Amino acid sequence: MTFNLSVILRESARRDPDKTAVIFGDRKVSFAELDAAADRAAAGLLRHASPGDRVALMLPNRVEFLECYFGILKAGLVAVPMNPLLKAAEVAHIVSDSGARVVVAGDLSAGEVPDGVPVLNPDRPDYLGADDPLPYAASTNADDTAVIIYTSGTTGRPKGAELTHFQLYLNCSLSGERFDSGPDDVALAVLPFFHVYGLSSVVNVAVRKGGTIVAVPRFDVELVLDALHDHRVSILAGVPTMYHALLNADTGDRDLSALRLGSCGGASMPEAVLKGVEEKFGITVLEGYGLSETGSTATMNPGVDDRRIRSIGRPIWGVDVRVAASDGAEVPTGEVGELLVRGHVVMKGYHGNPAATAETIRDGWLHTGDLGYRDADGFLYVVDRIKDLIIRGGFNVYPREVEEVLYGHPAIAEAAVVGRPDERLGEEIVAVVSVRPGADLDTAELIAYCRTRLADYKCPREVRVLETLPKSATGKLLKRELRARL
Ligand code: AMP
Repeated sequence: MTFNLSVILRESARRDPDKTAVIFGDRKVSFAELDAAADRAAAGLLRHASPGDRVALMLPNRVEFLECYFGILKAGLVAVPMNPLLKAAEVAHIVSDSGARVVVAGDLSAGEVPDGVPVLNPDRPDYLGADDPLPYAASTNADDTAVIIYTSGTTGRPKGAELTHFQLYLNCSLSGERFDSGPDDVALAVLPFFHVYGLSSVVNVAVRKGGTIVAVPRFDVELVLDALHDHRVSILAGVPTMYHALLNADTGDRDLSALRLGSCGGASMPEAVLKGVEEKFGITVLEGYGLSETGSTATMNPGVDDRRIRSIGRPIWGVDVRVAASDGAEVPTGEVGELLVRGHVVMKGYHGNPAATAETIRDGWLHTGDLGYRDADGFLYVVDRIKDLIIRGGFNVYPREVEEVLYGHPAIAEAAVVGRPDERLGEEIVAVVSVRPGADLDTAELIAYCRTRLADYKCPREVRVLETLPKSATGKLLKRELRARL
């Protein structure tokens, strides 16, 4: 079957050409304009690469990202989105692993691209050259790779998860249904477009449904609050650290009444943050779960009237999740095992890496490396990543459970619990926290607070206070960095 994901843009442009597709600063771009720009980008890119070739897209959230992304799809090229803040060695790895023929990079990152690889720089006029726009999308197959996402990868070098045209189409269509999202929605896009969550669950969903994207280049609370107010944003997608920052922010006299829904994922949402945000903004926040390897959403809370706090919801339509013991057999309800995912969301494989693919996808099941359980009603819960599990004196401690307690303490702004190597116990539990502005933290009191709420073996023995915790480009707390510091 031939199918090209770029039809989501073409169809929205046909339906309502003058509707605003994207707002960036003072700039408003209609669906017809974005579609035409993508046709020009497709033609320009085809001067440097041939259908099937990879094109690295190393830009922050801005209009040109979207022009080139849809241009790449239309041309039958493969998009390799990359963090524009990567340094030369990281860029070299991804460019060489993906075999990218050309890199689209602005002034911010052009200097990090290896010599010999052509750079198209949208900060220069006519960066795509003057060509006749490509009138029709390439006849790609539905299961051709459309996008390769390099995973942040806690071990080894980043690997490229290959996602297909039809897989991404199905994912945005199904996610859009869950949010009940439509053309009247205005979605705030502060999650990076180069990450699967921003690309699939924000950009693709909004374009597919004909809604408007408000692109914000980086997470800055004031910038985000202004954008929510100025453009009457109705849907917000974020990782927990973003919600947390919004919870603690002073909204002033901004009118945020258009906001109706938040989606959250990428990391566990602490209950205190979820409830606080819902109350403060008068919205419902639906938590979902996914990986680069699942083209974004694999599970989601079913809807505003049917969700469970702390749960990642149920598998989306057509997807199975198994909670498995180490031999792959399903564990009983309520017991913890590894989450395995099967169905249309699972990537084709890691680009050029059959060994890593075979290790990750076995009998059709994607091994996520996440631990979780299922309740009697079929709702799933993530307890932690396997690699973040702390084993103290032979007991399993799930950091998330301890973090939930820490987030409930009034002086705590951010919290991460990690294991520190310990001769006697194997690992000792350390809480790394940041403190709310204006609050005083007595670390001994914090440990005592934990002791009244958690079994002794789960309580942190040490508390380290940092000004802010290290985060990835998406805003996820970087535990491996904290572990390295210990
Ligand atoms: P990435 O490939 O960068 O999107 O990271 C995927 C990982 O994010 C998953 O394997 C999980 O460990 C984590 N993750 C995503 N969503 C959630 C969630 N709702 N709760 C807990 N962890 C999550």
